[in-house]
Amino acid sequence: MHLIPTQDEVVALLRNTGALRDGHYEYSNGLHSNEYLQVPLAMRYYQHAKTLSVALSRLLRANTEIRAMIPELSIVAPATGGLPVAYGVCEALRANQVYWAERENAHEPQHFRQYHQVQPGEPVLLVDDILRSGKKLSELKNLVESKGGQVVGLAVMIYQPNPDMIDFSPLPLYYLAKLDAMYYRDAAGCQLCKAGVPVEKVQT
Ligand SMILES: [Zn+2]
Repeated sequence: MHLIPTQDEVVALLRNTGALRDGHYEYSNGLHSNEYLQVPLAMRYYQHAKTLSVALSRLLRANTEIRAMIPELSIVAPATGGLPVAYGVCEALRANQVYWAERENAHEPQHFRQYHQVQPGEPVLLVDDILRSGKKLSELKNLVESKGGQVVGLAVMIYQPNPDMIDFSPLPLYYLAKLDAMYYRDAAGCQLCKAGVPVEKVQT
Protein backbone atom coordinates (compact mmCIF):
# COMPACT_ATOMS: atom_id res chain seq x y z
CA MET A 1 0.00 0.00 0.00
CA HIS A 2 1.17 3.55 -0.77
CA LEU A 3 1.95 6.00 2.04
CA ILE A 4 -1.17 7.79 0.93
CA PRO A 5 -3.30 4.88 -0.32
CA THR A 6 -5.02 5.29 -3.65
CA GLN A 7 -8.79 5.44 -3.90
CA ASP A 8 -8.76 1.79 -5.10
CA GLU A 9 -6.62 0.68 -2.16
CA VAL A 10 -8.94 2.39 0.32
CA VAL A 11 -12.02 0.87 -1.31
CA ALA A 12 -10.39 -2.59 -1.26
CA LEU A 13 -9.65 -2.19 2.45
CA LEU A 14 -13.26 -1.17 3.12
CA ARG A 15 -14.60 -4.15 1.17
CA ASN A 16 -12.20 -6.66 2.73
CA THR A 17 -13.23 -5.62 6.24
CA GLY A 18 -16.96 -5.68 5.47
CA ALA A 19 -17.22 -1.91 5.97
CA LEU A 20 -18.43 -1.30 2.42
CA ARG A 21 -21.43 -3.34 1.30
CA ASP A 22 -23.34 -3.65 -1.94
CA GLY A 23 -27.06 -4.28 -1.81
CA HIS A 24 -30.25 -2.34 -1.27
CA TYR A 25 -30.46 -0.16 1.81
CA GLU A 26 -32.97 2.23 3.33
CA TYR A 27 -31.63 4.97 5.61
CA SER A 28 -33.59 6.32 8.56
CA ASN A 29 -34.19 9.55 6.58
CA GLY A 30 -36.01 7.53 3.89
CA LEU A 31 -33.27 7.57 1.23
CA HIS A 32 -32.65 4.29 -0.61
CA SER A 33 -29.16 3.38 -1.84
CA ASN A 34 -27.20 0.57 -3.51
CA GLU A 35 -24.26 0.95 -1.12
CA TYR A 36 -23.75 1.03 2.63
CA LEU A 37 -20.65 2.04 4.47
CA GLN A 38 -19.94 1.36 8.15
CA VAL A 39 -16.38 2.67 8.64
CA PRO A 40 -15.97 1.32 12.23
CA LEU A 41 -15.85 -2.19 10.72
CA ALA A 42 -12.57 -1.15 9.06
CA MET A 43 -11.36 0.84 12.08
CA ARG A 44 -11.61 -2.18 14.43
CA TYR A 45 -8.29 -3.41 12.97
CA TYR A 46 -5.73 -1.17 14.62
CA GLN A 47 -3.22 -1.33 11.77
CA HIS A 48 -5.88 -0.30 9.26
CA ALA A 49 -6.96 2.56 11.53
CA LYS A 50 -3.34 3.66 11.78
CA THR A 51 -2.74 3.43 8.01
CA LEU A 52 -5.84 5.52 7.27
CA SER A 53 -5.11 8.10 10.00
CA VAL A 54 -1.50 8.58 8.88
CA ALA A 55 -2.64 8.96 5.26
CA LEU A 56 -5.21 11.59 6.20
CA SER A 57 -2.64 13.49 8.26
CA ARG A 58 -0.29 13.53 5.26
CA LEU A 59 -2.98 15.16 3.13
CA LEU A 60 -3.50 17.75 5.86
CA ARG A 61 0.22 18.49 6.18
CA ALA A 62 0.33 19.32 2.48
CA ASN A 63 -1.84 22.38 3.25
CA THR A 64 0.75 24.98 4.28
CA GLU A 65 -1.76 27.03 6.28
CA ILE A 66 -2.89 24.02 8.29
CA ARG A 67 0.71 22.79 8.71
CA ALA A 68 1.69 26.16 10.18
CA MET A 69 -1.01 25.96 12.87
CA ILE A 70 -0.43 22.33 13.95
CA PRO A 71 1.15 23.31 17.31
CA GLU A 72 -2.07 25.14 18.27
CA LEU A 73 -4.51 22.96 16.35
CA SER A 74 -7.41 21.17 18.05
CA ILE A 75 -8.83 18.02 16.44
CA VAL A 76 -12.55 17.83 17.20
CA ALA A 77 -14.96 15.04 16.30
CA PRO A 78 -18.56 14.01 16.84
CA ALA A 79 -18.80 10.94 19.10
CA THR A 80 -18.56 8.07 18.59
CA GLY A 81 -17.63 7.32 14.98
CA GLY A 82 -15.18 10.21 14.81
CA LEU A 83 -13.21 9.27 17.93
CA PRO A 84 -10.68 6.82 16.47
CA VAL A 85 -10.18 9.18 13.52
CA ALA A 86 -9.61 12.14 15.84
CA TYR A 87 -7.04 10.31 17.98
CA GLY A 88 -5.31 8.79 14.97
CA VAL A 89 -5.01 12.10 13.14
CA CYS A 90 -3.99 13.99 16.28
CA GLU A 91 -1.20 11.50 16.96
CA ALA A 92 0.04 11.48 13.36
CA LEU A 93 -0.07 15.28 13.06
CA ARG A 94 1.22 15.92 16.59
CA ALA A 95 -1.56 18.46 16.96
CA ASN A 96 -2.18 20.29 20.23
CA GLN A 97 -5.26 18.51 21.54
CA VAL A 98 -8.22 16.32 20.71
CA TYR A 99 -11.79 16.40 22.04
CA TRP A 100 -15.29 15.48 20.99
CA ALA A 101 -18.93 16.45 21.15
CA GLU A 102 -21.62 14.01 22.17
CA ARG A 103 -25.36 13.80 22.48
CA GLU A 104 -27.74 11.85 24.67
CA ASN A 105 -29.80 10.63 21.71
CA ALA A 106 -30.45 11.43 18.06
CA HIS A 107 -32.97 14.15 18.97
CA GLU A 108 -30.69 16.08 21.34
CA PRO A 109 -28.19 18.71 20.19
CA GLN A 110 -24.46 17.94 20.42
CA HIS A 111 -22.63 19.34 23.43
CA PHE A 112 -19.19 19.33 25.00
CA ARG A 113 -18.57 17.86 28.44
CA GLN A 114 -19.06 20.02 31.51
CA TYR A 115 -16.19 22.45 32.23
CA HIS A 116 -14.83 22.05 28.72
CA GLN A 117 -13.65 25.43 27.40
CA VAL A 118 -12.95 26.33 23.79
CA GLN A 119 -10.41 29.16 23.74
CA PRO A 120 -11.34 32.31 21.77
CA GLY A 121 -9.85 32.03 18.26
CA GLU A 122 -8.72 28.43 18.84
CA PRO A 123 -8.02 26.80 15.44
CA VAL A 124 -10.14 23.68 15.08
CA LEU A 125 -10.04 20.91 12.51
CA LEU A 126 -13.28 18.91 12.38
CA VAL A 127 -12.89 15.20 11.65
CA ASP A 128 -15.21 12.23 11.27
CA ASP A 129 -15.13 8.79 9.72
CA ILE A 130 -17.63 9.63 6.97
CA LEU A 131 -19.20 12.69 5.38
CA ARG A 132 -22.58 11.92 3.88
CA SER A 133 -25.11 14.73 4.41
CA GLY A 134 -22.83 16.93 6.53
CA LYS A 135 -25.61 17.44 9.08
CA LYS A 136 -23.57 16.25 12.04
CA LEU A 137 -20.42 18.17 11.10
CA SER A 138 -22.42 21.29 10.35
CA GLU A 139 -23.97 21.15 13.80
CA LEU A 140 -20.54 20.57 15.33
CA LYS A 141 -19.12 23.51 13.39
CA ASN A 142 -21.86 25.76 14.77
CA LEU A 143 -21.18 24.47 18.29
CA VAL A 144 -17.42 25.17 18.04
CA GLU A 145 -18.04 28.63 16.60
CA SER A 146 -20.64 29.47 19.23
CA LYS A 147 -17.89 28.84 21.83
CA GLY A 148 -15.43 31.15 20.01
CA GLY A 149 -13.40 28.50 18.15
CA GLN A 150 -12.33 28.97 14.54
CA VAL A 151 -12.97 26.02 12.22
CA VAL A 152 -10.13 25.83 9.68
CA GLY A 153 -11.07 22.71 7.73
CA LEU A 154 -12.70 19.29 7.63
CA ALA A 155 -11.15 15.86 7.24
CA VAL A 156 -12.98 12.56 6.90
CA MET A 157 -11.86 9.07 5.99
CA ILE A 158 -14.56 8.65 3.34
CA TYR A 159 -16.62 11.17 1.41
CA GLN A 160 -19.91 9.65 0.28
CA PRO A 161 -22.09 12.67 -0.51
CA ASN A 162 -25.83 12.17 -0.66
CA PRO A 163 -28.33 14.52 -2.35
CA ASP A 164 -28.77 16.52 0.90
CA MET A 165 -25.04 17.24 1.29
CA ILE A 166 -24.32 20.60 2.94
CA ASP A 167 -21.74 22.78 1.17
CA PHE A 168 -18.85 23.65 3.52
CA SER A 169 -16.91 25.79 1.05
CA PRO A 170 -14.71 27.79 1.30
CA LEU A 171 -13.41 25.49 4.07
CA PRO A 172 -10.93 22.91 2.74
CA LEU A 173 -12.23 19.32 2.83
CA TYR A 174 -9.88 16.31 2.96
CA TYR A 175 -10.77 12.67 2.41
CA LEU A 176 -9.06 9.43 1.38
CA ALA A 177 -11.74 8.17 -1.00
CA LYS A 178 -14.94 9.44 -2.56
CA LEU A 179 -17.77 6.95 -3.05
CA ASP A 180 -20.48 7.75 -5.54
CA ALA A 181 -23.35 5.65 -4.31
CA MET A 182 -26.69 5.75 -6.10
CA TYR A 183 -29.38 7.42 -4.02
CA TYR A 184 -33.13 7.39 -4.44
CA ARG A 185 -35.30 9.87 -2.59
CA ASP A 186 -37.81 7.20 -1.54
CA ALA A 187 -39.12 3.72 -2.34
CA ALA A 188 -41.39 4.99 -5.13
CA GLY A 189 -38.41 6.32 -7.13
CA CYS A 190 -36.03 3.45 -6.30
CA GLN A 191 -34.84 1.22 -9.16
CA LEU A 192 -33.87 -1.53 -6.71
CA CYS A 193 -37.37 -1.55 -5.19
CA LYS A 194 -38.76 -1.73 -8.72
CA ALA A 195 -36.51 -4.71 -9.46
CA GLY A 196 -37.78 -6.42 -6.30
CA VAL A 197 -34.40 -6.54 -4.52
CA PRO A 198 -35.02 -7.12 -0.78
CA VAL A 199 -34.31 -3.94 1.23
CA GLU A 200 -32.32 -3.71 4.47
CA LYS A 201 -32.89 -0.86 6.93
CA VAL A 202 -29.75 0.89 8.19
CA GLN A 203 -29.44 3.36 11.05
CA THR A 204 -27.16 6.15 9.90
ZN1 LIG B 1 -35.39 0.82 -2.70
